[in-house]
Amino acid sequence: MTARGAAELPLRAAIVPVTPLQQNCAILWCTATMRGAVIDPGGDVARIRQALERTDVVPERIVLTHGHIDHAGGAAELAEALSVEIVGPHSEDKWLLDSLAVSGAEYGIPARPCVPDRWLEEGDIVSIGEVAFEVLHCPGHTPGHIVLVNGGLNFGVFGDVLFQGSIGRTDFPRGDHETLISSIKTKLLPLPDDFSFLCGHGPMSTIGHERANNPFLR
Ligand SMILES: [Zn+2]
Ligand SMILES: [Zn+2]
Repeated sequence: MTARGAAELPLRAAIVPVTPLQQNCAILWCTATMRGAVIDPGGDVARIRQALERTDVVPERIVLTHGHIDHAGGAAELAEALSVEIVGPHSEDKWLLDSLAVSGAEYGIPARPCVPDRWLEEGDIVSIGEVAFEVLHCPGHTPGHIVLVNGGLNFGVFGDVLFQGSIGRTDFPRGDHETLISSIKTKLLPLPDDFSFLCGHGPMSTIGHERANNPFLR
C-alpha cells in the first residue's frame, strides 16, 4: 500500500469491486484493533459481507465519499445487516442519497435511499480503529464529495475526485469541471509526492504521479 513494509503498517485495505460500474468498495482496518470501516458500499452487499468475514475485521461504520449509486447504493442494506452507522458524505449530496432507488432502477443496481447518521464537513475526523483520517470537502464531481486523508501515513481515499491519469466526470447533474479542478489543485495537490491514494475506480496512484502525468492537471 505504501513504500513501507506491510508488517509495520497500522492500516490495511481490501478492495471489493462492486456494481456493474466496478466501483472499488474498500474495507479499511486498523491492525492494532482489527476494527474497520467499509468505504462506499455501492452494491453487491453479500460480496462485501463475505470479504469482511474473510478478514476478521469488526466493522464500526460505513463511510460514503459521495452520493452516486455505485458508491452509496448498498449503504442502507449493509448498515442494517452490520448494525453500524453511516457517516458522510457532505450534506450537499443529500439529494443524491434521497433518490438512490430511482437512480438504481436506471442503472439496474438494487438500491435504497439512505440517511447518514452524521454528515461530514471540511476538517472533521473519521476514525478507523485507532487511525484518524481528516475530511476534505472536494466538490465538483458532486457538490458533497468528501475525501479522507491521513498525513502521518501519507495515505488517502479519494473516491471519484482524482484517478490514475484522469479526474472525476462532471457531466452528471450538478457536476462542475471548474469546481473539480479547483478542489484538486487547492486541496489535493499540496499533499506530498509520495502520498498514495485509493480511487473509486481503477488502480491506486500517488500525488507525485498525477502531478507529473495527469493530462487534466496541466
Ligand atoms: Zn461518482
Ligand atoms: Zn464512481
